[in-house]
Amino acid sequence: MARRKKIYEGKAKTLYEGPEPGTLVQYFKDDATANNAEKHGVIEGKGVLNNRLSEFFMTGLGHIGVPTHFIKRLNMREQLIRAVEIIPLEVIVRNYAAGSMAKRLGMEEGTMLPRPIVEFSYKDDALGDPLVPEEYIIALGWASQQDLDDIVALALRVNDFMSGVMYGVGIKLIDFKIEVGRQFDGDFQRLIVADEISPDSCRLWDMETGQKLDKDVFRRDLGNLADAYTEVARRLGVLPTNTAPMGKPTLIN
Ligand code: 5GP
Repeated sequence: MARRKKIYEGKAKTLYEGPEPGTLVQYFKDDATANNAEKHGVIEGKGVLNNRLSEFFMTGLGHIGVPTHFIKRLNMREQLIRAVEIIPLEVIVRNYAAGSMAKRLGMEEGTMLPRPIVEFSYKDDALGDPLVPEEYIIALGWASQQDLDDIVALALRVNDFMSGVMYGVGIKLIDFKIEVGRQFDGDFQRLIVADEISPDSCRLWDMETGQKLDKDVFRRDLGNLADAYTEVARRLGVLPTNTAPMGKPTLIN
């Protein structure tokens, strides 16, 4: 088979040219990075879990009418996605103070916020993804006011869906990050959820014990990251089929 053309390699995923125009293949790696790639590790199985979990969340969002880049999962580590023009922003939704917000404002992690807060960071590793006000985004031409209104509405729908799904399996959705892409149909532009939704990009705390089930386990050396992600996948009923011991072959009609 001819080698596929690599379009982009990020810290946790690689994008290859897709089989049809307007599509890409998204490959999930086992690499984990934190603190702007100062800390790096390879967590065996992470890519497989995130491929499944992102498929699960994006499919669910599709079912409630939230447009995403996801088309279908191809195999254990790859999914077919729509090619989009990524808006260079990390769109962060917070339900409870944690991470950079808690640090910046001296708040205790886990403090419930009076309402979900949507904030934007400029996607630039060299600058450490700095927080940017809407005014900057519009003045610098990264997105229009209309785009931002649509992005906030999209992010809040994702938040409602994700919070509910997580609540159903005893997990609090503390915060998460999404990326949004522009999909063009002639002159018409549609904003859709892109990148991934997985425990790499969310904070997930067990409702009873407060145990962290997300990338903070790696960032803060709290234990085994793959075990935490496996627990999230197990509760959601999303586990790669080959993690179970192989039984006898079964004839399927
Ligand atoms: P914070 O700003 O508190 O560090 O992060 C807020 C939320 O966005 C957390 O759920 C965190 O995992 C996610 N997030 C922020 N920046 C990144 C990033 O560069 N990559 C990923 N995967 N998630 C991020």
